[in-house]
Amino acid sequence: MEEIEEFWGRKIRASWWAATASLFLIVASPLWLFWNWIGLEYFGGSYLSEIAGLRRDGILAFSFQYLPRASTKASQGYIAWLCFQATLYYFLPGPISTGQLTPAGHLLKYKTNGLSAWTMTHCLAFGAAYLGYLDLTIIADNWEGLLVASNVYGFVLPALCLVKGYVAPSYVGDCKYSGSLVADYFIGVELNPRLGELFDLKLFHNGRPGIIAWTLIDASYAAIQFRDHGYISNSMWIVLILHYTYVLDFFVNEDWYLRTIDMCHDHFGYYLGLGCMAAVPNIYTIQCQYLARYPVNLSHTQAAAILVLGMGGYAIFRSANHQKDIIRSSNGQCDIWGRQAQYMRCTYKTEDGRKHESLLLCSGWWGFSRHANYLGDLMQAFALGLACSSTQFLPWAYTFFLSAIMINRLPRDEARCRRKYGKDWRTYCAKVRWRLLPGVY
Ligand code: NDP
Repeated sequence: MEEIEEFWGRKIRASWWAATASLFLIVASPLWLFWNWIGLEYFGGSYLSEIAGLRRDGILAFSFQYLPRASTKASQGYIAWLCFQATLYYFLPGPISTGQLTPAGHLLKYKTNGLSAWTMTHCLAFGAAYLGYLDLTIIADNWEGLLVASNVYGFVLPALCLVKGYVAPSYVGDCKYSGSLVADYFIGVELNPRLGELFDLKLFHNGRPGIIAWTLIDASYAAIQFRDHGYISNSMWIVLILHYTYVLDFFVNEDWYLRTIDMCHDHFGYYLGLGCMAAVPNIYTIQCQYLARYPVNLSHTQAAAILVLGMGGYAIFRSANHQKDIIRSSNGQCDIWGRQAQYMRCTYKTEDGRKHESLLLCSGWWGFSRHANYLGDLMQAFALGLACSSTQFLPWAYTFFLSAIMINRLPRDEARCRRKYGKDWRTYCAKVRWRLLPGVY
């Protein structure tokens, strides 16, 4: 993207190249999701066999034969799911949390009732399954239609948000118009599109239907493995443990999520919309989808090593994110790893010209590297891939996907911080030299 960097908030004039890249990703992303599903369903979970099939049949015959098809039942189920989650989001009580100052100087409030929504949804689903009213395999059995429905919604949602951004934006000062409709559709116009006072479209879509479905989809594929193979493999248990820990962590710490890049800096368009509505339920559950069809039985030593790697990654992820959060909430008055935290006080301006102060932590994980929280996440993703296969690429799709997100995000975030904090950021980088892994990057 060619940016005119007048300010630290997103200020973009999209070049033809940016619009073309956006268009490419808009078309390629759902195709990649379909490609993974076809590989799992028809080609033994192997990209190589799938490529051979594509070369044998030609692109048209291959698409005609294998592309997933919509189904009325799945589409209705999907709409019911969205409505159910929107109802929980709107009506369930929950604490009111505060986000972070936006570039235009807004400090927004959010109802953080995600843990109640997750718990209620799972109690209902597991309770109904236990009492015999619901077969947990229903999600996996209807996955083809759900995959199509989630992609269609991933396309429609950003289009509606684009129209809203032009016609009735919630916070005009935080809207960015790139000059290209395609780029606007892809990266979004509004930073915080809302319906009314508290229905935040970004928090809802990033943090509810997709991520709550994640653990239910996993459970459904575990039930499929049990139904079709008569047992649940230790690899499936490891993936379930790591996923349930990660998702529960997200909801227990929902307040923290309000101060991440997704919520504070990324505008709401196709990138987040399709990402959260279609990529999360499809790519983030890929290990369970794979193992349900092709169970992997790990030795005790392998299982233990993979679990330690994954939980170790989670521990780094959680503790790094916690340290970043408490340094600011305590205004620097906290201990990190048993010592008084070291930090820098930095200044920045919002677009209204007002000056503000912020803290950059320089000790603990944030003294180790500038993105140690990414390191923990990548370790977990690596463990999830290892639990599934050392020979097939397909179950590693999430690991590749997350790595691509981090590779894209890391320099983008650093460039923004440089604009926001100016020379303070350069001093911070001199103090904390490494971006991710000391000695490597
Ligand atoms: P961060 O939580 O690292 O947020 C980066 C922001 O934190 C910067 O823009 C800056 O914002 C602030 N910051 C930077 N350095 C410091 C410091 N030393 N002290 C205090 N604040 C600092 O990034 P993300 O939002 O991308 O990630 C959050 C977590 O979510 C990570 O653990 C990541 O791995 C995970 N994640 C997971 C994804 C998934 O799909 N599974 C996808 C993306 C992220 P400012 O100063 O403006 O407040």
